[in-house]
Amino acid sequence: MVNLDWKNLPFGYEKTNYNVRCYYKNGSWGKLEISSSDHINIHMAATSLHYGQEAFEGLKAYRGKDGKVRLFRWEENAKRMQSSARGILMAEVPTELFHKAILKVVELNQEFIPPYGTGAALYLRPLLIGTGPQVGVKPSNEYLFMVFTSPVGPYFKEGFKPVDMLLCRSFDRAAPLGTGHIKVGGNYAASLASLKKGHDLGYASVIYLDAKEKQYIDECGPANFFGIKGDTYVTPKSHSILPSITNMSLIELVKDLGFKAERRPVHIDELKAFDEVGACGTAAIISPIRSITDESNDIRYEYCKDGKPGPVSTKIYERLLAIQFGEEPDVHGWVEVLDF
Ligand SMILES: *Cc1c(COP(=O)(O)O)cnc(C)c1O
Repeated sequence: MVNLDWKNLPFGYEKTNYNVRCYYKNGSWGKLEISSSDHINIHMAATSLHYGQEAFEGLKAYRGKDGKVRLFRWEENAKRMQSSARGILMAEVPTELFHKAILKVVELNQEFIPPYGTGAALYLRPLLIGTGPQVGVKPSNEYLFMVFTSPVGPYFKEGFKPVDMLLCRSFDRAAPLGTGHIKVGGNYAASLASLKKGHDLGYASVIYLDAKEKQYIDECGPANFFGIKGDTYVTPKSHSILPSITNMSLIELVKDLGFKAERRPVHIDELKAFDEVGACGTAAIISPIRSITDESNDIRYEYCKDGKPGPVSTKIYERLLAIQFGEEPDVHGWVEVLDF
């Protein structure tokens, strides 16, 4: 194992030994290639650079209690990347190729998979970009699919501690019939200024509203939103939010606890009725929310009055981590244990 300060890793890029690449040309995918360079060489008129033909994924490889390495629900990432590709007219990466690429890149970078007990994991970043030249607005004929890795610590430096959020009024992330439901770089470009504003004002992230009526919650920066009310887990239904695999999994875990789960529009007036609210995604699993401040009128919704994450959020957070790190049986069949 390489010598890194595993307990204090940021959520950032740390060079590892290898990445894997595959090129799409003349209507078909080539062979999976291994590279030790962290640069790519593409045409200056590539569609990814001009017209945003770019989609990505994010998943982690976890070193378990038993020393074995686990991947979590990677098939869902493969499916989602295919949906992103269809959404912006790129060549789809077949599930088998996606699987082969992530297995290979984890195997090649084994010594960068953080030890069990540090809370850190090896982040995998699959990337699909249009590489062929176009000057008119048209999809590319050529694509590059690659996967690189980076060992990462928790996304929020606060760890599993409640954070403050800004209810964003001055920016929208995604249009109602736009690309919010797929994981493409364009959505992130559209979110940078609002995220900076939130950070500058001292918030961990911002919560976006539906762009049309500005009445319903969409999501929290790069994470989905959920609220707990009594015995019900509620998460927004909207065409402009990204279907989070973490959210999908938390829904199953609350059901295991005997809770109900609802996916439906969530009006901002409902914010005062929730017992607990949180943001969820692969990077942080759950970021419990302590407060939400409405940018337009300074109304502040407060949670976690004792300063601690709520009991339901804590329970499902711990259960999901326990499954990912192999501490609890994988009753839902979410984990692939790697063998190398
Ligand atoms: C990736 C992403 C999420 C989280 O999805 P997970 O599959 O849980 O990691 C949420 N929102 C947006 C906008 C995202 O890009």
